[in-house]
Amino acid sequence: MEDKVLVCQDCGKEFVFTVGEQMFYKEKGFDNEPKRCKECRDKRKAMRRQREAEASETPAVE
Ligand SMILES: [Zn+2]
Repeated sequence: MEDKVLVCQDCGKEFVFTVGEQMFYKEKGFDNEPKRCKECRDKRKAMRRQREAEASETPAVE
């Protein structure tokens, strides 16, 4: 196994999918590779949290 360079779906930047992360994904049974860099994932996570806080009675849809 070796590090893979992937392109972020959101910002178009390249990011590294490290061996450690690949092993983690495998361990969890994830088939897909990450589509976004860490920065964009964190951004989306923060946005989702904010939305949930604003409309807590609406179920969160991806
Ligand atoms: Zn990105």
